[in-house]
Amino acid sequence: MTEQVPPVGPPDLAPQHELVSAERGSTPAASSGRAQAAAGAPVSVGTVSAGAVGPDVAGTADVIVVGAGPAGSSVSYYLAAAGLDVLMLEKTSFPREKVCGDGLTPRAVRALTSMGVPISESDGWLRNRGLRIIGGGGRIELDWPELSSYPGYGLVRTRTDFDQILARHAEKAGARLIEGANVTDPLLDDRTGQITGVKTKDGREFRGRLVVAADGNSSRLSIAMGLHKRDDRPMGVAVRTYYTSPRHNDNYLEAWLDLWDGDALLPGYGWIFGMGDGTSNVGLGLLNTSTGFGEIDYRHLLRRWLRGMPAEWGFTEENRMQPVRGAALPMGFNRTPHYTRGLLLAGDAGGMVNPFNGEGIAYALEAGEIAARVITQALARPTAADRERVLQTYPRQLKDAYGGYYTLGRIFVDLIGKPSIMQFCTKHGVKRPAVMRFTMKLLGNLTEARGGDAVDRLLNAVSKMTPAA
Ligand SMILES: Cc1cc2nc3c(=O)[nH]c(=O)nc-3n(C[C@H](O)[C@H](O)[C@H](O)COP(=O)(O)OP(=O)(O)OC[C@H]3O[C@@H](n4cnc5c(N)ncnc54)[C@H](O)[C@@H]3O)c2cc1C
Repeated sequence: MTEQVPPVGPPDLAPQHELVSAERGSTPAASSGRAQAAAGAPVSVGTVSAGAVGPDVAGTADVIVVGAGPAGSSVSYYLAAAGLDVLMLEKTSFPREKVCGDGLTPRAVRALTSMGVPISESDGWLRNRGLRIIGGGGRIELDWPELSSYPGYGLVRTRTDFDQILARHAEKAGARLIEGANVTDPLLDDRTGQITGVKTKDGREFRGRLVVAADGNSSRLSIAMGLHKRDDRPMGVAVRTYYTSPRHNDNYLEAWLDLWDGDALLPGYGWIFGMGDGTSNVGLGLLNTSTGFGEIDYRHLLRRWLRGMPAEWGFTEENRMQPVRGAALPMGFNRTPHYTRGLLLAGDAGGMVNPFNGEGIAYALEAGEIAARVITQALARPTAADRERVLQTYPRQLKDAYGGYYTLGRIFVDLIGKPSIMQFCTKHGVKRPAVMRFTMKLLGNLTEARGGDAVDRLLNAVSKMTPAA
């Protein structure tokens, strides 16, 4: 590990401004801020307890959450539901695009259900019943496993809709959202080095007893706190775009394990997810263990892959609805520690994408819930040392939940980076339903928490036995 982390000491978590917490949700100022945010208008920070603790402080809260993607909205929802005063600071304004495949597995569906997000088809969600896997000259459709722990269906929804729905859901629970707030720096206590708030590009300051970095893969806030990406952890890069296509109503998520341009095997893995709105989300990704990672022209790669597709699917330049856009997938805890000096990391900021399948939304939502539980308990403790003891359990809880599995994922990423191994697996695996059902549970991290069938028990045991690093 190359990062340098400043020494940890108990933070001073005494309430920054009791008045603001007491006023939460009841002041005309706070509710007018919420109404403006709900209407999609940038909120005047003056409506959020401006001037309450001094001329420079634009707002205070129990917890400042930086970023209103899935991780930020989840942690804010759970904190607000627990009665804490939460301020979400989001750089952009909703609705806004986010580069993504837009695919949600049953794991993400479970997380949405736990948050009480309405996900019926009449609310505009498209359900899918499983995965279609194409590779090694074979093709197989596998329904999501029937489990008590997870629903038997997945969803798709554009991130333009999805992220806005989640942010508004957190607001409804009582979190305050300020859009157009680009956080650039932490505010630090000179004496302890603890984070006491954040500063935005336009000079506004926001103070909180704790801060959550949910600002995605780049996590400027984490970097400013000395938390850099670990280069011993997997990283992916993926690109995607949308095409109008007759395949838009697909009820399987389609994953391509090998990509061909004529006889040439291309690097990477692809997906085609029907969006149900006349378009398909089509994309491909590469892992940093693959040859050519970082040097490849991804847009060209996508064009080469798609030119071999049947013409009637419509994946042509004329049908392309958006530019091809790309972003990184930080995997397997590639930024740690997940708690230091009053700052908790959730979602991509903490590198929480599943290395097995590139899924990040479910883990961002789940980490948000875990972080909120820890923060709620910590802030209820009477002394700084007490609170710190609770906060230190956050990285431990994450490790307990995903550590062994992510270690296995790192081994998997190394193996599939070798084309000969990958080709062997696709050639001999895809045509065998039993092997693929096992693979689906492994890759999707979809097993019964307790009991289950032999596959569940085996996968759980192996994950538990594998050291969480
Ligand atoms: C091409 C591609 C395809 C993918 N497909 C899938 C998929 O199909 N399914 C899946 O589960 N996962 C997928 N992922 C991964 C998934 O997109 C991420 O894991 C997920 O978005 C993580 O959520 P997050 O809340 O941690 O971060 P983000 O979604 O990145 O949200 C971070 C938020 O913070 C805001 N922000 C950033 N900087 C600042 C700042 N300085 N100040 C204030 N706000 C800030 C951003 O505007 C954003 O709203 C894909 C990723 C890529 C790149």
